[in-house]
Amino acid sequence: MRLTICIVVLLVIAVGCKPSAKKEPGLEGNTIATQEEGPTKPEETELYTPIPPKVEIDSNGVPDDAIVLFDGKNFNEWMSAVDSTEVKWFLNTDGSMTVKDKTGDIQTRRNFENVQLHLEWRSPSEIQGKGQSRANSGVFLQNRYEVQVLDNNDNKTYVNGQVGAIYKQSVPYAMASKPSGDWNTYDIIYHAPEFDAAGVKTKSATITVLHNGVLIQDHFEIQGTTEYIGWPKNEPHGKAPIRLQDHRDNSRVSYRNIWVRELD
Ligand code: MG
Repeated sequence: MRLTICIVVLLVIAVGCKPSAKKEPGLEGNTIATQEEGPTKPEETELYTPIPPKVEIDSNGVPDDAIVLFDGKNFNEWMSAVDSTEVKWFLNTDGSMTVKDKTGDIQTRRNFENVQLHLEWRSPSEIQGKGQSRANSGVFLQNRYEVQVLDNNDNKTYVNGQVGAIYKQSVPYAMASKPSGDWNTYDIIYHAPEFDAAGVKTKSATITVLHNGVLIQDHFEIQGTTEYIGWPKNEPHGKAPIRLQDHRDNSRVSYRNIWVRELD
């Protein structure tokens, strides 16, 4: 008897707590509520278009909407940045390439604007040089703005020129390098600068960099070209290549698995 009373009491409470199915006045279907009222139904804040395109990722982690710039097979997407002739760097049998000293930078044949860029790089396990002369290379967005590549393991240098720096402009939040000789990843999200008709910069480029998955640059506003000597320059430009640096001091830096997704 006592149990029956308890069940009845619980049922009464449960029915009393059930949300009212009564329609709210003035809110029909997907009508968006006014700012003052605010949404009162979940459907009012749900979108069903546009539907994001499906992206498949292959076994190497490459999205199927990416442009593969280097998969280890050839230098088809690249040329010498010195004279636009064929690349002189080493094409290795393990799917990587290595800087051939003093043959000059290389750059993509295509020009880019806003991109998501993935690449992997490795400094040699056999250490040579120190400071800026230890496995120095770099990734230049739009042929102008350098994300530093350097073997910084037990190797001191100026912090706005260390690995992951936006050269001479932005110190990375962390030093996330793998041991010398191991592969590192850079994942870069870059938005190009904008210029008006008179050639005056109206919007700075921005860059976000993850080094081995660690955030080291977060939407940094690039001040202009990344100069070795002098202040950044802001000459107007449009689409431009991605360039990889030959520092001309036997860096022996290698790259592999380079792909890019063009962003709006
Ligand atoms: Mg460099």
